[in-house]
Amino acid sequence: MTCGNTNSAGLCGRFPADWSDKLWGLDETDDSREQADLRRAGKAICRHCPIRGACLAMAIVTGDQHGIYGGLSIHERHQVRIRALAAGIPVNRRDSVTLRKLTVWLRAHPDVFDEAQKQESQARQLRDNRKAQALHRVGRQASPDLQDALFN
Ligand code: SF4
Repeated sequence: MTCGNTNSAGLCGRFPADWSDKLWGLDETDDSREQADLRRAGKAICRHCPIRGACLAMAIVTGDQHGIYGGLSIHERHQVRIRALAAGIPVNRRDSVTLRKLTVWLRAHPDVFDEAQKQESQARQLRDNRKAQALHRVGRQASPDLQDALFN
């Protein structure tokens, strides 16, 4: 179980480990659509979790690179890191003082969760656009049959 909160008061701890792994951890199903639905469900459950802020703060301070914490993916957590740093919280320090500061700050700024998701969604859109433009530029050099495969 990669969530790391199964022994705490987190809602994920109330699920069997195999489900917990699918909803918040590293387990992936073969069906990408089903996987996306499971992740969405995991994130929705996090919204009601009584330790959401502490969970997110722990993942950020420990630099966890995988799974869902506090309802946020690694990319969304990165957005929170940027905002916390701008607010003067030294999230690069992996100590209990920073953890406490970040947890308190997150409790005082509940809007940060939704904003991080929105910012990451916009950043993803930008990345996708750049990728599509690069593919288009490269694809123009390709043979007609490869162009057909790339763009149709
Ligand atoms: S916020 Fe989500 S991942 Fe964190 S303890 Fe709660 S249910 Fe588990």
